[in-house]
Amino acid sequence: MKYQQQAIEKLKEYDVHPSIQRVMILDYLLSCNVHPTVDDIYSALLKDTPTLSRATVYNTVNKLVEVGLVRQLKDIDKKEARYDACLETHGHFKCVKCGKIFDFKVCDKLILDKKLEGFTVNTKTVYFQGVCPECNKVNS
Ligand SMILES: [Zn+2]
Ligand SMILES: [Zn+2]
Repeated sequence: MKYQQQAIEKLKEYDVHPSIQRVMILDYLLSCNVHPTVDDIYSALLKDTPTLSRATVYNTVNKLVEVGLVRQLKDIDKKEARYDACLETHGHFKCVKCGKIFDFKVCDKLILDKKLEGFTVNTKTVYFQGVCPECNKVNS
């Protein structure tokens, strides 16, 4: 529970009661940077918490999305929603082999086109696809 304290503080900041499940799931999302699905979160936490149910994970994650502590990435994986606790603007790189989604920094002031003037931006998505270094190693 490396990010336990941070998770508790974030929940309080967003006016959400820091229940054990919420802290545990947010802690996990903050610590892993591969953007897990509900099933990934469930199986990772089940080892230490055998009483955990998939429904609890599902409901808890949805609550975190609802209050704005976690982002749901729907566009990247059409089959299953992936979750991200990093709220700053950043790019995503999805490995087509292992399915992991990696974060990278982007400067969102780098739009060099005036065509967006007068538009209101709600979400910013930078999405790359390819093969990650780990999977590249396997091939060579
Ligand atoms: Zn990969
Ligand atoms: Zn991300």
